[in-house]
Amino acid sequence: MDPESALAARIKAIGFRCRQCGECCRAVARESNLVMVGPTEIRRICGATGRKWREIAEPYPEFLEDGQGTRFTFGWCLTRTADRCMFLEHGRCTIYDHRPWICRTYPFMLGEEGLMVFECPGLGGNIADTEARALAHALLARKRAEDEEYAAIKAHFATMRPSGSRTLVIDSEGHTTIHG
Ligand code: SF4
Repeated sequence: MDPESALAARIKAIGFRCRQCGECCRAVARESNLVMVGPTEIRRICGATGRKWREIAEPYPEFLEDGQGTRFTFGWCLTRTADRCMFLEHGRCTIYDHRPWICRTYPFMLGEEGLMVFECPGLGGNIADTEARALAHALLARKRAEDEEYAAIKAHFATMRPSGSRTLVIDSEGHTTIHG
């Protein structure tokens, strides 16, 4: 069986039906509304909404220090309000057709060890064969995009040199100085 068919069969066996509860978009648990996004996704959402990059994306909230005064984080996440994703309004995603990979594939993810399943009230629900196939397809595409993003970040980071007091976001396209 090819990888996509095998994945679709696993998803079908686990079961999933979105209940549209919006829990994956709200801060119902620590960082449960944290949606990582890459430059391509940010640009797509900017194009769809007419908003600017820094309005819709904020630095991923885990920073490291290089011991020379530079703080950095790897990548971006969608901007959040105190209790939800900025795009959740009246329980609905306002950028549904342009939503990021994470939102398209939740509560599933493909890690190095294979399929991961996160907490979700929709698990166990009835999913049609075509939907399971579409989800499997999206999961494989997401994994390829994440692997490419990770490799590009790693390559860029390897070329960077310490340069004093500043705070950076490093992504696949380079780095953005947010302070300093
Ligand atoms: S982009 Fe849409 S689906 Fe994704 S977390 Fe925000 S409101 Fe939810």
